[in-house]
Amino acid sequence: MYADIIIDITHEKLDKVFQYSIPSELEGVLQIGMEVVVPFGKGNKETRGYVTGFSDKAGYDETKIKPVLRTAKDSMAIEAKLVALAAWMKEHYGGTMIQALKTVIPIKKQERAKEKKSIRLLLREEEGKRQLDIFLHKNQKARARLLAALLDEPRQEYDLVTKKLNVTRSVVRSLEEMGVITLETEKVFRSPISQKGGRRQTAEYTQEQRHVIDVFWEDYNRGIRKTYLLYGVTGSGKTEVYMEMIGRVLEKGYQAIVLIPEIALTYQTVMRFYGRFGDRVSILNSRMSQGERYDQMELVKAGKVDVMIGPRSALFTPFPRLGLIVIDEEHETTYKSGQVPRFHARETAIERAGIEGASVVLGSATPSLEAFYACACGRFQLLRLRNRAGMQKLPTVYVVDMRKEIKAGNRSIISDRLRTLIEARLEKKEQIMLFLNRRGYAGFVSCRACGYVVKCPHCDVSLSAHRGGKLVCHYCGHEEPQVSRCPSCGSTYIGGFKAGTQQIEELVMRQFPGARVLRMDMDTTRTKDGHEKILEAFASEEADILIGTQMIVKGHDFPNVTLVGILAADMSLYSNDYRAGERTFQLLTQAAGRAGRGKSGGEVVIQTYSPEHYSIEMAALQDYEGFYEAEMAYRRLMGYPPVEQLLAILMTGEQEELLETAAKYLKEFALRIDRNRRLKIIGPASPYVAKVSDVYRRVLYLKGGDHEMLIRVKNHMEQYIEINKGFDTMRIQFDFNPMDVF
Ligand code: ADP
Ligand code: ZN
Ligand code: ZN
Repeated sequence: MYADIIIDITHEKLDKVFQYSIPSELEGVLQIGMEVVVPFGKGNKETRGYVTGFSDKAGYDETKIKPVLRTAKDSMAIEAKLVALAAWMKEHYGGTMIQALKTVIPIKKQERAKEKKSIRLLLREEEGKRQLDIFLHKNQKARARLLAALLDEPRQEYDLVTKKLNVTRSVVRSLEEMGVITLETEKVFRSPISQKGGRRQTAEYTQEQRHVIDVFWEDYNRGIRKTYLLYGVTGSGKTEVYMEMIGRVLEKGYQAIVLIPEIALTYQTVMRFYGRFGDRVSILNSRMSQGERYDQMELVKAGKVDVMIGPRSALFTPFPRLGLIVIDEEHETTYKSGQVPRFHARETAIERAGIEGASVVLGSATPSLEAFYACACGRFQLLRLRNRAGMQKLPTVYVVDMRKEIKAGNRSIISDRLRTLIEARLEKKEQIMLFLNRRGYAGFVSCRACGYVVKCPHCDVSLSAHRGGKLVCHYCGHEEPQVSRCPSCGSTYIGGFKAGTQQIEELVMRQFPGARVLRMDMDTTRTKDGHEKILEAFASEEADILIGTQMIVKGHDFPNVTLVGILAADMSLYSNDYRAGERTFQLLTQAAGRAGRGKSGGEVVIQTYSPEHYSIEMAALQDYEGFYEAEMAYRRLMGYPPVEQLLAILMTGEQEELLETAAKYLKEFALRIDRNRRLKIIGPASPYVAKVSDVYRRVLYLKGGDHEMLIRVKNHMEQYIEINKGFDTMRIQFDFNPMDVF
């Protein structure tokens, strides 16, 4: 047996894996992630490395392969744990060990850390004053200026003082040579936050909050580490609860990671954490350079930070004593990585917590089916907050049946009810949000007269309109011709739904002249901070109406918003994947939660062509559990996650025929492995966008109740793909329980 060893995992040279032989006394002892000592280089210097894999064949001349010397003593170093996590990710999500390692270990880029140079006075005060007199006497004005400044403040920043006093480098150098001053450099860490401050929150916790904190803390003190789901409506005080839990864990000498979806990583949120934990908090965001990230990790390793807040990637913060991982808005799709390894932060956090002996707290007002199901199965513990902390009431929700609007002769995008309510708000100088649901829009075809939607007879998801007049299922490839008359009611109002934020803005300005309107979508937020600026303007009441896509659903609190209109609630309902119902429920609930965050209660109008759909019905009733039961029934019936697991095999390549053939071979291969027919093999289908800039795409789905079995099939397939040259011209990626239709 041979072991693959990576020598230095914190540098870019990660690509290099060295093979070592395993001496008999270490056989069966070595594991992936373990730190070992090996002879390295010409002088066979004893060097530390990490085991990243095993093989039974020598990669080159057998006589030249050196043996592993021994396991490193303090082998549970932080890197070793992260390497072990990478190994788990490779196994569970596919890809190579190198790809997994690059995901979990901060890599040092050849980017010089910014250095702060400062000037320090070496003379004592009296001596200094004497020297100052000499400079003045000799009319050496620049030297005198610098020395006078240093007599005021003996240590000054080089750049600042030289600029301010207008002294040149040679002046500084001559004083240095005279032994008057010395230059000092210190490495400074680029900090993403320039402003720090805020006060410690001393709010009394509500009874519910106290109970939740007590349950968590009792477990923690008894050494119990597990996963909790904190399920509480928006505004129920979840963030306060996280902060209290973190505070206590910190007091015990542990560290904490808080994951937040990037879009919700606002100034407001970050300041709340700063207010509580001050400088011990650091944040990561996607706009940071790799150098900045690396610095953050150095700060962490130096023990200067105890709480890291950030999106998905913050999960890999190398804390030496990790005690708690919080995932806020755990249902968010951005917790799934779009790159290989396509890991889910929730599952990966639980794995990391297991390795480190930490607990996990997931929070949401609309938990993912996965998390709620795990509570039902006893894998997670459910903690609940039933009421809003500030005692505000939940908003009143109206559902408007848009089919009736058409019958009554109103063909506008805005219903009569919504129009009347908008007018009333404008009169009262209260604010309005109009939310256009465009999420997951993929060309579904529906009837505006009766709400009928064309679906796949096998998969029970919407068909998508492709060019050339075809309707296609993206799971199984089922096709049927485009229809021009509704199969259900015969109306000709059947087709794709087309309306953008811009059209709605124009319509609103025409219908409500005098209203001040802001629009937030991909176009208006392209610039840096564009997103923040619009929200800020709306928060300071520079506009009456904010129109936007799902971007407006999160982040800021707008106390003056008393009306939320949801246009085209159906759009996400009929996106072509099995999570459509779940996404719709989440979006509607979250959008509705935006109304009435202040003193006066709020109203919400949901406009839909399918008011009887349980996602819409339950969102209107704000009944998560009702929704959960209905949605689980559908998932059970169709064998979709979380009841069963779905493995997508994504194939891309430039030659369509080869791709087609390869997909068939892979399908046959899967059928051969699955001798007992425990899996369902679906496809290959052409995705919605079957070809992007001359690259063709195909996708194959495997569905089954046994997760381990799917992983085994994936492993076999990876080997099969690696040894067969036929696959060399294409890229093949695995995606467990994909978030988006490929
Ligand atoms: P969530 O994270 O569930 O949306 P937050 O923690 O943001 O809820 O709380 C919502 C609002 O209620 C915040 O303004 C917060 O300061 C306030 N709040 C939270 N807990 C309490 C409490 N116990 N007493 C008073 N106000 C509270
Ligand atoms: Zn119809
Ligand atoms: Zn289908």
